[in-house]
Amino acid sequence: MRVVRTIAQLRAVLAGAERPVGFVPTMGALHEGHLSLLRTARSGNSTVVLSIFVNPTQFTEAGDLDAYPRDEPRDRELAAAAGVDVVFAPEPGELYPDGFATTVGVSGRVAESLEGAARGRAHFDGVATVVVKLLLAVAPDTAYFGAKDAQQAIVVRRVVADLGLPVRIELCPTSRDPDGVARSSRNARLAPEDRRRAAAIPRALGTVRDAVAGGETGSAALLALGRSALAAEGIEVEYLAIVDPETLDVVDEVDRPVLVALAVRVGGVRLIDNIGIAPPVPPSPRGE
Ligand code: AMP
Repeated sequence: MRVVRTIAQLRAVLAGAERPVGFVPTMGALHEGHLSLLRTARSGNSTVVLSIFVNPTQFTEAGDLDAYPRDEPRDRELAAAAGVDVVFAPEPGELYPDGFATTVGVSGRVAESLEGAARGRAHFDGVATVVVKLLLAVAPDTAYFGAKDAQQAIVVRRVVADLGLPVRIELCPTSRDPDGVARSSRNARLAPEDRRRAAAIPRALGTVRDAVAGGETGSAALLALGRSALAAEGIEVEYLAIVDPETLDVVDEVDRPVLVALAVRVGGVRLIDNIGIAPPVPPSPRGE
């Protein structure tokens, strides 16, 4: 496994690499969620590239960037064990040189609702800018993103389509702990009691899914169920929404597949999660 710090080194290493090239961009502090993406990339490509870069431009909350966990030696060990061929771990100055003045701006509901509304529009502009830079540097055949950050994947797909970038974006399922909590680098910041309470997050999403399976289609009623499951554990809701999985338009009636997405705070730690839900298919009339 090679570890490179500059775009020039990366291009030199990848010039002779066997294609297809699969790419998994991360901010490090690797956990099982990241490893599941790496396994998918490993099984479908001759060369696997992992990037580790805590991207300052997507952090919009004071202190969040400094508090973000970093452990490159451990990440390197995990990457090697996962069969990664090349780790790209640049310093901020490599991706944001002096005088940096170019931003990839994404507008519309896909970028301005939910996480965009909660964190400010600089968040997805920061994500879009760094992802485009990384895709240009790595030039992968396929890049892998987690459904855990569903809106991020939607924004990335929009950017790739709009800029005509020659890369396939593959969405990988959310990896969860045994109690259903989505794996996240932020979970390490939870106090033990808050980690226990966090199990109410997948429970709330499951309650909404079960109610849809039971025939409830009204979003207002479904959201009330979800909110009360979170309130039962004293979890503060930043948003809980039922939206179209492609446009992120609000859906009032669950008569087609939807995305149920939320952001909450548990003991001061901000967590996001989501699930896709499809309403039950009505039984076809007899004789058809
Ligand atoms: P991050 O390092 O948090 O920016 O995440 C890097 C990539 O890993 C993103 O595409 C995330 O969606 C994905 N990811 C993070 N957590 C999970 C998870 N629990 N399951 C699946 N993918 C994940």
